[in-house]
Amino acid sequence: MEFAMFCTRVNTLLVLVVLCSSCKFIQSPMDFGPLNIAQTTNTASLDFGRILFHSPCGILRPDSPRDISLLLSFLSASSFSQVRVAARGAGHSIYGQAQALDGIVIMMDSLPPTIEIHRRRDGDAGFSYADVSGGVLWVELLEESLKVGLAPRSWTDYLYLSIGGTLSNGGISGQAFKYGPQISNVLQLDVITGKGELVTCSPTRSSELFYAVLGGLGQFGIITSARIFLQDAPHKVRWHRVFYEDFDIFTKDQELLISMPDKVDYVEGFIVLNEKSLHGSSTAFPSYMDSIPHLQKGSSKVYYCIEFAVHVYQAKDSFIEQVVEEILKQMSYMPSRIYSVEVSYFDFLNRVRMEEMELRRRGVWDVPHPWLNMLVPKSGIKEFRDLLMEHISPEDFEGPILIYPLLREKWSTNTSAVLPEVPAASTVGGEDDDVVYIVGVLRSTTPSSCPPACLHDLLRRHRRIAEEAVGGQVGAKQYLPHHQTARQWREHFGRGWERFAARKARFDPLNILAPGQGIFPRIS
Ligand code: FAD
Repeated sequence: MEFAMFCTRVNTLLVLVVLCSSCKFIQSPMDFGPLNIAQTTNTASLDFGRILFHSPCGILRPDSPRDISLLLSFLSASSFSQVRVAARGAGHSIYGQAQALDGIVIMMDSLPPTIEIHRRRDGDAGFSYADVSGGVLWVELLEESLKVGLAPRSWTDYLYLSIGGTLSNGGISGQAFKYGPQISNVLQLDVITGKGELVTCSPTRSSELFYAVLGGLGQFGIITSARIFLQDAPHKVRWHRVFYEDFDIFTKDQELLISMPDKVDYVEGFIVLNEKSLHGSSTAFPSYMDSIPHLQKGSSKVYYCIEFAVHVYQAKDSFIEQVVEEILKQMSYMPSRIYSVEVSYFDFLNRVRMEEMELRRRGVWDVPHPWLNMLVPKSGIKEFRDLLMEHISPEDFEGPILIYPLLREKWSTNTSAVLPEVPAASTVGGEDDDVVYIVGVLRSTTPSSCPPACLHDLLRRHRRIAEEAVGGQVGAKQYLPHHQTARQWREHFGRGWERFAARKARFDPLNILAPGQGIFPRIS
């Protein structure tokens, strides 16, 4: 392992001295592997949000899970140390969740990138699965599993995120209505707890830790390996976009689509505010300007777009036309506003990468991203849409606003992930209570168009939307949550707070892990 230390906090120095017997002592920038120290410090204090920049005192590049275990065992045994530790996957958090101010950041991409595919043989019981180390990116798992015709079932829209990072949150995309989030598609985990114990856990073995870690915001342990469920991969995907003027018809059609899991494989949607409301591959479809002639600069009219997809397997290729026709004839989209393409499964899943390339070319990828992600019960989705539209102006909004339904029944209530609570007054178990919308306000800003004062104003406005949606009639919860006070965190977990806090006391009693989430203060 390699360990680099940059500042002279006594406790961190102590950690370094104790670990020095097994780690390479870094004396000059060039000693630190292929990166120099300045670059590494920058990386560890930077994330996709580009809003918070907390510098750590030390960085660990582990060669094996044992290196992580050694560090955490030492820190948890030395009760006088205040040092805290954050695992960093791909660093695609928004609000410093993978940072550790004056603490130690563990670079998960330095673990050997193991991906072992196990294909179930005909006649065997059990499943096909992949054993993957925690720092591997989802795109790497996809590439490897496709070589043998398999793939995970549940995705995120963007694939350059780490396995450990998305499993610490949920992992949601257009397949989640059918298979649940990524945390519902994990068979086993290897975890190092805040006490340094290396535990293999599953729904039947150390199950409390297994469920705590899934959606656990990095609070209970560091995922060094995950066993991910695999299925046969389709050859191609028939991908459709249809447009709406009316919000009620838009959501009704989305809910219709998710009621047909035997036909439909992916459902998303987004609010089309202006010609920049791009989402997914801009090269696969005509631009919105061409799709909707009325969508012109200065127009305040808002449209909605449903994106759905049907997998094409060689064997049932001939049925696809019929399946798509059956789906479309039940929908009520704007006549003549339907667009379809057929693409490879890899290109479909990797669609945001194409958008990334375009945004990088325009210099609007490595910029501040004041994002807001909310989970909204069906009963409050219209009110939430109105609230959102009060606070954003279509003219200057850059980025997509995603909105699509999920099904509560696909989320295990044992995990740490938080969904909106079922309203006490409702008929529990009713169909309507099962539908929860994910709404992603994925805004980009540039320092020239939105200097710091403007960015702070946007953040303040997003906080207000979140507070009103959580506290009022809407009954929403934040996804990828960012809260500033202990009271807000308790409210966020609601009825699940006691369990969350008890699990923390059991698996990370000194509150060493994931300080960037800001949930628990360090205990000395
Ligand atoms: P990091 O930012 O590195 O870490 C996130 C948190 O997890 C931190 O608290 C960190 O300490 C902890 N952590 C990291 N690795 C581990 C580990 N191995 N063990 C334990 N804890 C760990 N999310 C969706 O659900 N659906 C989407 O479609 C989606 N699209 C996205 C698109 C983009 C462009 C971006 C930037 C983000 C998107 N996200 C999406 C959000 C993303 O899932 C989360 O931000 C996720 O945490 C990112 O993974 P990461 O590897 O970058 O995590």
